[in-house]
Amino acid sequence: MSKNLAELDQKHFIHPTSSIQQQQQHGPAYIFEKGDGIYLTDTKGDTYIDAMASLWNVNIGHGRSELGEVAKEQMEKLAFSSAFSTFSHEPAILLAEKIASIAPGSLNAVFFTSGGSESNDTAFKLARHYWKLKGEPERRKIISRKKAYHGVAAASTSATGIPQFWDMAGTFMPDFVHAETPYEKSTAEAIESMRQVIEHEGPETIAAFIAEPVQGAGGVIIPPDDYFQAIRNLCDEYGILFIADEIITGFGRTGKMFGMENWNVQPDLMTFAKGVTSGYIPFGGVVVSDAIHDMLKERSTGTLFHGFTYSGHPTASAVALKNIEILEKENLPANAQKMGERLLEGFKKIRNDTQIIGDVRTIGLLGAVELVKDPAANERFPAELGVAGKAIHALYDHGVICRPVTFDNTDIICFAPPLIINEEQIDTIVEKVHDAVVAVEKTIGE
Ligand code: PLP
Repeated sequence: MSKNLAELDQKHFIHPTSSIQQQQQHGPAYIFEKGDGIYLTDTKGDTYIDAMASLWNVNIGHGRSELGEVAKEQMEKLAFSSAFSTFSHEPAILLAEKIASIAPGSLNAVFFTSGGSESNDTAFKLARHYWKLKGEPERRKIISRKKAYHGVAAASTSATGIPQFWDMAGTFMPDFVHAETPYEKSTAEAIESMRQVIEHEGPETIAAFIAEPVQGAGGVIIPPDDYFQAIRNLCDEYGILFIADEIITGFGRTGKMFGMENWNVQPDLMTFAKGVTSGYIPFGGVVVSDAIHDMLKERSTGTLFHGFTYSGHPTASAVALKNIEILEKENLPANAQKMGERLLEGFKKIRNDTQIIGDVRTIGLLGAVELVKDPAANERFPAELGVAGKAIHALYDHGVICRPVTFDNTDIICFAPPLIINEEQIDTIVEKVHDAVVAVEKTIGE
């Protein structure tokens, strides 16, 4: 059965973000068929700790029958109907109200999408539309940061600050600009770089700045504590809208319901996806401030020509509502905070037994371990050694799934386990990271 699946996969399935050649040669390495809590089991019967919550998104853990039940109930009642124009339905209305009630400050109105890339593309259009309605149509540019990941639709690819993602598109779109990120930089340096970009481009041409509260795909880059307030001040100084991309950080991941709450900073628009349904069904959206919503209500005279077939999908909305109910009832943001602290303590202890761990960091249940040649000098390994890749495979062999980041010659291992994880399971991850890193260290130089 599984052999057959592997062959069919090789023949017919073009995998997202994959090495096509490798897939053609070897087929899929793992075919999962069951999920339960923090665990995934493959067709060979082997069980793994899903220390990435799959794609940073299965926040309430695998196998929650409550979500299946609510989906079945909604599908039998009204699986789908349009939310375009004057049509509406109860699940999307209730979900919009719920999200408005948990989103920070004046973020009170929601535009729904089917995922993260659509959400960011929508946010850019809403920001530009806001300026057009306000009488400043020349404000079209979007500033994002190096190492940012904002998705793979046309505009979100362009906002992404990892050049490998521009390859398929040829280049990035006009009116997208990339500034420095605070990785290995102070707030002052990162803000100065932003200011230079704004001055160089012309503040009157800039619609919005977009940032992940914690850069995920870039390597779990947690900013200095004063960074986002300084960003907010800079945006206010130049009248630029601030978009928080909460697609990874939203719905409890960083120990707060939304990542930006760690620094009490209020964005003008906030995009979300992933954790809103814990990945049980594709979904996403953009929450906008009252100021933006009021502008739309007061000055939009024609139709807002933007909408996805599945904007506000009734079944997805019902699943999202149940998922948020579980996150709240089980206090999962608080658990993420507590377990993240334990994970960090564990990572620090591993340093006693190896010489190749540099920076370790967590914020809630987003974490990273950097592997370096010389921790004291923060000297990196030569890329050709492929140290992060080796560590990831050693971790797979030890039954833990996590993710390597090797852009810009880094060797970072990222962690984002389901928020339901307990102390014993955190300790197991730490133990296995210890064993894998020690094993990899022995192979270096062999
Ligand atoms: N923004 C961030 C921060 C992400 O991590 C991702 C996906 O990983 C996206 C946007 C794109 O979301 P999607 O893959 O649902 O289109």
